[in-house]
Amino acid sequence: MSISENLRYYKDQLPEEVRLIAVSKTKPVTTIMEAYHAGQRVFGENKAQDMADKYGQLPSDIQWHFIGHLQTNKVKLIAPFVKLVHAVDSLRLLKEINKQAHNNNRVIDCLLQFHIAEEDTKFGLNMEEATDILSDKEFKNLTNVSITGVMGMATLTEDEHQISREFEQLHQIFAQLKNTFFMEQPSFCEISMGMSDDYKIALVKGSTMIRIGTGIFGARNYS
Ligand SMILES: *Cc1c(COP(=O)(O)O)cnc(C)c1O
Repeated sequence: MSISENLRYYKDQLPEEVRLIAVSKTKPVTTIMEAYHAGQRVFGENKAQDMADKYGQLPSDIQWHFIGHLQTNKVKLIAPFVKLVHAVDSLRLLKEINKQAHNNNRVIDCLLQFHIAEEDTKFGLNMEEATDILSDKEFKNLTNVSITGVMGMATLTEDEHQISREFEQLHQIFAQLKNTFFMEQPSFCEISMGMSDDYKIALVKGSTMIRIGTGIFGARNYS
């Protein structure tokens, strides 16, 4: 299957309000251009330097989503252009994004990443840590970041019931945060969940953004 056929395959399954993030990490700009010519405009990367390099070489109407763990010292590389940071998991990182966004005269949209998987290797917040961030006096002064939702990754398992429970948990976290902190903010509306192997379950559980890499571009080559 070609990249454009793969994109069509996913697009056909998505409700109108759900966005497809094409995860292009490790893929060269020529491959990204294939997807671009097929109409794809939203791409996800997980390395700041790679994303900045690709941004410089590719059309300016691409929306760049940063999907991985972002180190504070790398924020400045992507602050001039990044559309959405999917995986904010500390106040320290949020403050740095705010600072760099301010330097670039922008407001940067961010999602809070939650730890919903069983594996403890994955990054992410629990409810208590998120509540601490959102209640912090300093948070209110961060006028150059906008929290637009939540993100999470399910456990890598064949057990669909488990994946389903974990995505359900993320949906409940989203609803609780909305009620507690974002009642007046319609912009808090995103649930980023679902990858090539589990996106169907994520859609059932109310995902608004699925992040698909291998399903569109084929296996990654980490040489
Ligand atoms: C790599 C990656 C994806 C895409 O994974 P695939 O299994 O290739 O679809 C999605 N989200 C994050 C955070 C990733 O790092």
